[in-house]
Amino acid sequence: MYKVRLWSVRHSRFMERLYNTANPGILLVLKGVTKIFGKRLDRPITAMEAGVKGFLFDCQMCGDCALSKTGMSCPMNCPKTLRNGPCGGVRANGMCEVKPDMNCVWVLAWDGASRMKNGDAIQNNEFAVDHREKGTSTWLKLARDEKTTDE
Ligand code: SF4
Repeated sequence: MYKVRLWSVRHSRFMERLYNTANPGILLVLKGVTKIFGKRLDRPITAMEAGVKGFLFDCQMCGDCALSKTGMSCPMNCPKTLRNGPCGGVRANGMCEVKPDMNCVWVLAWDGASRMKNGDAIQNNEFAVDHREKGTSTWLKLARDEKTTDE
């Protein structure tokens, strides 16, 4: 939801703290669940991730989450799916060149990153999106120690 997405960026420091506090426990549970059930619960876990992150960040389930490195602003909402914005077309008022009614996702990202303790991580975002991962779960990749951007 757009309004909630903006709220999450404005409160990126709080989201960062929440993530750092909750993540170790959630990861431990997911590691246990994936060990016991293998891939049998992948679909509900992926749906849970899509639901929670969809509400908070308008997550597009790219399969390679970068939220902690983009100021809690999901870069997949950028019409150009840039991973190192903003583009040269961003408007002077911070709105998107392609969607003029939408705040530039990357202007939001740099703003959100400026509020975070580990916000400098945004400087290291020079990677392309692997669109083959779309629809897959970053949570499950982290639980299975598979390489992701958000490490
Ligand atoms: S203005 Fe921002 S959101 Fe729009 S295409 Fe450029 S980088 Fe993406």
